[in-house]
Amino acid sequence: MDTFFWRPLAAGLVLMALALPATALELKGRWVQGGMLVGRVDPGTAVAFQGSPLRLSPDGFFVIGFDRDAALESVLTLRAADGRETRHPIRITARTYAIQRIDGLPERKVAPAPEDLDRIQRESALARKARARDDARTDFARGFIWPVSGRISGVYGSQRVLNGQPRQPHYGVDIAAPAGTPVKAPADGVVSLVHPDMFFSGGTLILDHGHGVSSTYLHLSEILVEEGQAVRQGEVIARVGASGRVTGAHLDWRMNWFDQRLDPTLLVPPMPVGERP
Ligand SMILES: [Zn+2]
Repeated sequence: MDTFFWRPLAAGLVLMALALPATALELKGRWVQGGMLVGRVDPGTAVAFQGSPLRLSPDGFFVIGFDRDAALESVLTLRAADGRETRHPIRITARTYAIQRIDGLPERKVAPAPEDLDRIQRESALARKARARDDARTDFARGFIWPVSGRISGVYGSQRVLNGQPRQPHYGVDIAAPAGTPVKAPADGVVSLVHPDMFFSGGTLILDHGHGVSSTYLHLSEILVEEGQAVRQGEVIARVGASGRVTGAHLDWRMNWFDQRLDPTLLVPPMPVGERP
């Protein structure tokens, strides 16, 4: 039989299939450099960000995060259970970052001696490993609270000039608080790293909130939890200190999505009134 009549019909069927509603996609969060988006799709959908597959929870949750200098355009690809693929452009807003000059730091903490370099590399490998975890927990999807209240003395992303020398940008938020102030877990999680004294960050603690989302606490005077321990939002996990490269007691709070550095202040509501100094 001549297939002439069948060709247009087949093309029509393909067009109808494309016109059907795609798999549902919800994305919530901050569409900005340093921001994090929590997504939800129909369970069974495969999700990829910039071509790399993402972990999906059984109820369809996933997360993506944007580094300080993340590209402003990226692509999320969904593949439904029936094999249909849809591409969703993700457009985020660029930020501008301040310059922060800090003087009076011990010179060796700004320009480490050759004998310090091994230790610095070992310690950063430990932090990288903790942040590379891709745990099935979905604590990241249930919101964050401030771990400590106080004056913000350093912001995310600022270009740093330490003792007059340009250094890496600042990736955390610094909250000034007296040494000994309790640090609360900003969300449920599991302790993935405890270190009593790192070269730059002093007493250091990392919590894993699932799917590559982690939070880090630096310059602690005391750590009250152990690696592998599960913690609940609001639980006291450590105490503020002045260990490592600091000029005074404060909490440096960082958030990561794997190696992407996120801005913690984009994840929390404004600091509660009355707790602000
Ligand atoms: Zn800091």
